[in-house]
Amino acid sequence: MTPGAILTINAGSSSIKFSIYSAGEEPVERVRGEVEDIGDDAILEIGDHGGEKRRIGIGRVSHEAALTAILDHADDFLDGQAVTGIGHRVVHGGVDFARPVRLDDATIARLVELEPLAPLHQPHNLAAVRAARRAFPDAVQIACFDTAFHRAHPWVNDTFALPREWYDRGVRRYGFHGLSYEYVSGEIARIAPELQHGRVVIAHLGNGASMCAVRDGRSVASTMGFTALDGLPMGTRCGQLDPGVLLYMMDHEKMTSDQITDLLYRKSGLKGLSGMTNDMRELEASDRPEAAEAIDYFVFRIRRELGAMAASQGGIDALVFCGGIGENSALVRRKVCEGMEWLGIAIDETANAENALELATGKTRVMVIRTDEERVIARAVNAALNG
Ligand code: ADP
Repeated sequence: MTPGAILTINAGSSSIKFSIYSAGEEPVERVRGEVEDIGDDAILEIGDHGGEKRRIGIGRVSHEAALTAILDHADDFLDGQAVTGIGHRVVHGGVDFARPVRLDDATIARLVELEPLAPLHQPHNLAAVRAARRAFPDAVQIACFDTAFHRAHPWVNDTFALPREWYDRGVRRYGFHGLSYEYVSGEIARIAPELQHGRVVIAHLGNGASMCAVRDGRSVASTMGFTALDGLPMGTRCGQLDPGVLLYMMDHEKMTSDQITDLLYRKSGLKGLSGMTNDMRELEASDRPEAAEAIDYFVFRIRRELGAMAASQGGIDALVFCGGIGENSALVRRKVCEGMEWLGIAIDETANAENALELATGKTRVMVIRTDEERVIARAVNAALNG
């Protein structure tokens, strides 16, 4: 029997990133792509693994119609395989979901309750779940959570110093980017098994950015907290902020919650500091002092957290970079590692310029690992299909 195909879905308000794998012992990637501008004149970008991408106009479509369009155009790559499993990236799994879960009505209802904790992501993730269930009623549907990897956090990294009842009401440090940390931890175990029980710090530096201390493959501490705003500055998000700033904005500037949300999520970070862009490539190419300052602040916060992550697990055996910036920006990696000999961190400039896997010249391993959140989702679906 031909094994079925697995569709992974990462849905935002106006986009769906997707990939399609053949199920089997280990999923084999066939197709990867994205639908952009859903709700407007949507464009489907699709191609096989590592190959050229086609760009196809699919008109004004809903999320559900976009999913059908993906499947129509994916047919060319699938040799007649039908989609038997669908994996959804769902940003928030709250306190309860520490592993992937099969999506049924009751589970979806519990995930809807978490929408206030991730208002800019969770509703879109769940809209895609509903659309996919309508479009593929017979497929197994699985949710994979960005928070799940961190559920093993020790209590001190799970809480804020608020009155205890707030912890019980779910105001906790959930941590995010868990699918990326899970993938990278798996790769570390595969590439460098001697680090499997070591003290590892992973820096996921993309448009969203966070860091995680990982020991024995488990999250010990991470920079993101209750929402995906905390920790490092990001493309357009502010990162760590004194909560007094919010009180000031509300009480003295009379800003509404919508205005503050827009400011903190969409207008801050690299974009806000530079006054230009959230794109690191453009910032690196610019000769404006504000661009250099935005990079300096980004690097400064990464270095601060690197110290904190090392301290949280009594030292560091490996620093691993991933995400669009972590994997590709030699400048950011060099600046992060400069003067870090006290943590055993020193890197080879040539290896760094080549985005090589291994950069270290000091006793702490420094690595660049391409993250692959889709594969983590595909594996979870594959496992469910295999019973
Ligand atoms: P997302 O969090 O949206 O998945 P990515 O992980 O793709 O984002 O990261 C996007 C970031 O990576 C952007 O700031 C982009 O400029 C940066 N980036 C990608 N390629 C390079 C490069 N060659 N040099 C520097 N930065 C890069």
